[in-house]
Amino acid sequence: TEKLLNHQEKLASIGQIAAGIAHEIKNPLTSVKGFLRLLKESYTHPYLDVMDAELEKALDTLKNLLQVSKPDLQEEKVVSINFCKELSSLMLLFQERLYNVEVELDLRDSEITIFGKKNLFLKAFFNLIKNALEAIEEKGKITILHYHKDGWIHIKVSDTGVGVPKDKLKMLGTPFFSSKSDGTGLGLTQVFTTINEHGGNITVESVVGQGTTFHIQLPVKQ
Ligand code: ADP
Ligand code: MG
Repeated sequence: TEKLLNHQEKLASIGQIAAGIAHEIKNPLTSVKGFLRLLKESYTHPYLDVMDAELEKALDTLKNLLQVSKPDLQEEKVVSINFCKELSSLMLLFQERLYNVEVELDLRDSEITIFGKKNLFLKAFFNLIKNALEAIEEKGKITILHYHKDGWIHIKVSDTGVGVPKDKLKMLGTPFFSSKSDGTGLGLTQVFTTINEHGGNITVESVVGQGTTFHIQLPVKQ
């Protein structure tokens, strides 16, 4: 049997190196962006806007990278989070992409909350739902389940999409691992990092051609 790398090991191997590089590139790019802003105050030219937009993309990638590999630097307040409420409003963000999608929301124990960094969680569930939509190519079913049991919140995100081949399962969450031509491979890294940081667990089950389920457990009290 093959030994699976755990999330920390995956991050250590690739993410930390990438984060170091990202950090070094971010500072000069930020300063270029600042000077570009100054230029734009005196000159108008479509190329300047293109440059601005492209710089913004690069900075956004670097920001994501730093976020997933250095979560301790996240200076977000810990607040009380009600996942039932957050998950149902999050689905609204995807509304235009849900025409041919059957969505099943089964959000029980709606009064249960946990303490955590809300924006990290919103981003994590956004990443999971986005992946599910991409996996079903916007046709199929997405199920989101929430319930409380023995001091743990269980959240399941399932789709009836393409699934993940068995030999690729262990790669999920590795920074930059992506099977998509336009993928960044940072979405699941962000998800795994967020769940870990809050003392939770995440597991994945998948059958090629049938679908994928992410199962998350978070302690109600930390
Ligand atoms: P990206 O979406 O940019 O490729 P992610 O980190 O979000 O990066 O996902 C990494 C890879 O994991 C995806 O490219 C895909 O191969 C696989 N994956 C993630 N979620 C699913 C899913 N719900 N169904 C099938 N494959 C998935
Ligand atoms: Mg993704």
